[in-house]
Amino acid sequence: MSQFLATHKRDHRCGDFRDTHVDEEVTVYGWVDSYRDHGGVIFIDLRDRTGIVQLRFEPWVAEGVAHGLADKLRPEWAIGARGKVISRGENINPKIPTGAVEVLCDTLEVFSESPTPPFEIKDDLDTAEAIRLKYRFLDLRRNALSRNFQLRSQVYRQTRNYFADHGFLEIETPILANSTPEGARDYLVPSRVHPGSFYALPQSPQQFKQLLMMSGMDRYMQICRCFRDEDLRADRQPEFTQLDLEMSFVSVDDIRALLDGYVRGVWREVLGVEVPTPVPSITYAEAMDKYGIDKPDLRYGLPLTDLTELLRGRIEFRIFKGALDAGGIVKALYLPEGKVFSRKDLDKVIPAEAAPFGAKGIAWARVQPGGSWSGPVAKGVDDALRGELNDALGAEEGGLILFSADKRSVVNAALARIRGVAAERLGLIKPNTWSFVWVTDFPMFEYDEDEQRYQAMHHPFTSPRYDEIDQLETDPAGVKALAYDLVVNGVELGGGSIRIHRSDVQHQVFRALGLSAEEVDEKFGFFIEALRYGTPPHGGIALGMDRLLMLLCGADSLRDVIAFPKTQRATDMLTGSPNQVDAKQLTDLSIRTVVDD
Ligand code: ASP
Repeated sequence: MSQFLATHKRDHRCGDFRDTHVDEEVTVYGWVDSYRDHGGVIFIDLRDRTGIVQLRFEPWVAEGVAHGLADKLRPEWAIGARGKVISRGENINPKIPTGAVEVLCDTLEVFSESPTPPFEIKDDLDTAEAIRLKYRFLDLRRNALSRNFQLRSQVYRQTRNYFADHGFLEIETPILANSTPEGARDYLVPSRVHPGSFYALPQSPQQFKQLLMMSGMDRYMQICRCFRDEDLRADRQPEFTQLDLEMSFVSVDDIRALLDGYVRGVWREVLGVEVPTPVPSITYAEAMDKYGIDKPDLRYGLPLTDLTELLRGRIEFRIFKGALDAGGIVKALYLPEGKVFSRKDLDKVIPAEAAPFGAKGIAWARVQPGGSWSGPVAKGVDDALRGELNDALGAEEGGLILFSADKRSVVNAALARIRGVAAERLGLIKPNTWSFVWVTDFPMFEYDEDEQRYQAMHHPFTSPRYDEIDQLETDPAGVKALAYDLVVNGVELGGGSIRIHRSDVQHQVFRALGLSAEEVDEKFGFFIEALRYGTPPHGGIALGMDRLLMLLCGADSLRDVIAFPKTQRATDMLTGSPNQVDAKQLTDLSIRTVVDD
């Protein structure tokens, strides 16, 4: 076997072959994709990550030795073969790029055999994902997945080149770190040397990248792994990859322009799509008002209309009045093509979509000829008010008005969801359409009802708008941050901010967050100290690379762009992690568990 490898160097990949290769003597390696015997001639489809080529074994070639061996081949055996490229003449296979030719083989080597795999290695598969994940090494042989990783690698190369060309240094930061306040739970690693002490895996390298700016590195980039112990969803994994960036002496506009150039380059290179730049922006306040969400999908319109002021004191309809009296709001989504939702949809589908966001129901009215309404809200609205509402919504005959009345957060979340459902039903989401937008002017803080205190909306190192610093003590809720998110098609690709570069301002922000001097000292003492030594104004951003790749690959799940992903229960089906460990390991770490097994 080794002799074959030594004497027969691979000169082509399976996917390379075209009719220009005819008559060449070639050596190929790969896996048996399929085996066919046509009247004594054996055809093997040989696969590697580049594609498939047909090998042909005739019993009369080279005394039939290779043919005899080929007869034993089965799917997924790893083999090498040598032969001459010949034309397939009439028998061209137009379905594969190499379909014009085949390799007439005189030599064959079997490197290793394979049992029948638990599922066929093909693109469309209905095998349960749990089995695919358990046999991930086989799953990854499928072109549908393999090509995602080839694309990922291409994007990484392009990313590194782009940022190197713009003066960025690639610098690694620790994985065994201390807690970073990105708002999630930490993964902890016990220290053997310091019993009872723990490292935290980084939720992001936030503090390190800022320290690098204080170190004069000027521009930092890293494609780094981050860890957040959160409940998982299709677009979340406990460990994920960020493109992490930080720059000194910059404004929000500089960072936006740099990122505009980056996404424009990637979308052009990978998808052949021209992203119009500069990417437009919308303020957080406007996004919430018009779309009910801070990551609006702008591939379509369907804005929401706030009816709170119009209705205040003028509506008897119980649900609306109740919400307004309790300090809530009323908003509506108007659909000109009202028939898109049937009565059954309005009774069942729509309320079910809204319920997970806390909405107790979605009231509706259909606009009839002459502007009158039918539906549950119709009776509670007099003619004059109805006329004003129609005007405010631009409502006309055939239209459907969907109302939500509740707390602001519930109304926004519920209608944002229904806006998406409606867009899909109406066929407004066209394939290969990309709508990028920057969301800016986020509030500095959001009120945490459970903990009854403010939390940083981005993270506590984010700078307030320079003209609002004075309001930090007097009106924290009204202070806006120099923070921005990059959103595409309703997906948050990433976010960042200009950072605080003055220790007095940093202290003010910690105070607004209700942190005591002791807490600040304990958690961020080193950082505050560093801030005092001539910190340059700086800012940065992090993009979720897995999400970016998921969009570029057209994948439905993050798992399709992560080689060895975790399940929704944060387990790795292949290796079985997380695992029990030896009692001795725990003793070494001074750890006693309280879980019964
Ligand atoms: N550290 C932030 C995050 O992980 C990104 C940033 O502010 O640069 O979301």
